[in-house]
Amino acid sequence: MKKSEAAPGALTRSVINFGAGPAMLPEAVLRRAQEELLDWHGSGISVIEMSHRSREFLGIVERSVADLRALLSIPDTHRILFMPGGATSQFANVPLNLSAADGHADYLCTGHWSTKAAVEARRHCTVHVACDAGGDTATGIPVPGTWTLTPDADYVFYTANETIGGVEFPFVPDTGSVPLVCDMTSSFLSRPLDVSRYGLIFAGAQKNFGPSGICVVVVREDLIGRARAHIPSLCDYRVYADSDSLINTPSTFSWYLAGLMFEWIRGQGGVEEMARRAIERSGRLYGAIDEGGWYRNPVAPAVR
Ligand code: PMP
Repeated sequence: MKKSEAAPGALTRSVINFGAGPAMLPEAVLRRAQEELLDWHGSGISVIEMSHRSREFLGIVERSVADLRALLSIPDTHRILFMPGGATSQFANVPLNLSAADGHADYLCTGHWSTKAAVEARRHCTVHVACDAGGDTATGIPVPGTWTLTPDADYVFYTANETIGGVEFPFVPDTGSVPLVCDMTSSFLSRPLDVSRYGLIFAGAQKNFGPSGICVVVVREDLIGRARAHIPSLCDYRVYADSDSLINTPSTFSWYLAGLMFEWIRGQGGVEEMARRAIERSGRLYGAIDEGGWYRNPVAPAVR
């Protein structure tokens, strides 16, 4: 069947991309972006061509923030920031904003990304590795009783889902009164979340909610404004919070598409429904891997 003969709303793409990111977006979202590309809501111009200070774009911003807050029931204690530079830039921003010059941070190293975050943080503060599951070869999470967390750490950092190795925390680490920081890039919006347990969560967009170029940071209000004096202002969470993330020109098209994704997820039944689908999908995939003789998954089933 030619594409032009497809029923409205029917899926027309036959290629399935299993890549973690940039990952596939729902066809409905891409089609909506396509429909709106040349003329956004009768404005006569594309979102790409709009001023980020225009009434139209500010409306997109406001709606996207409200939708994300609703999707994850983000309490008023936490601010939502949209920052450039992907998730990796937060590997530096976190220590530059949350650790004192003479302070230290605890890192739970459970694979490639958390280890990379610790290496970057070491450039900016003293890093204490509270557990080390073996870098790229990690296949499990050391039991919390063996972690050497320090009660006076500025924060504890962990990666909820190690995209490369495949180790995923099935629980939220208990760090007492020490702020918990999470790289949630590859599990953000795939399940409900108790945001109040976190000091800071960040997630690059291209895995779960849009194109690359943008990173969402959800940060507890009292952790904003602690940045080291010497850092570039565009790394300071206070600068983004005070300007509603519009201190300079953001990646407008990525932000707009993230907003379409939030709207789509809400329309599908929210993160509860995303969780149901993710469990069903991963169950099918793990079933095929485990039952076939060809593929091998060394990650412990409880944490994959
Ligand atoms: N953290 C995790 C868990 C990731 O999966 C990735 C991307 N694969 C990153 C950080 C780096 O993200 P970015 O390329 O947006 O900097």
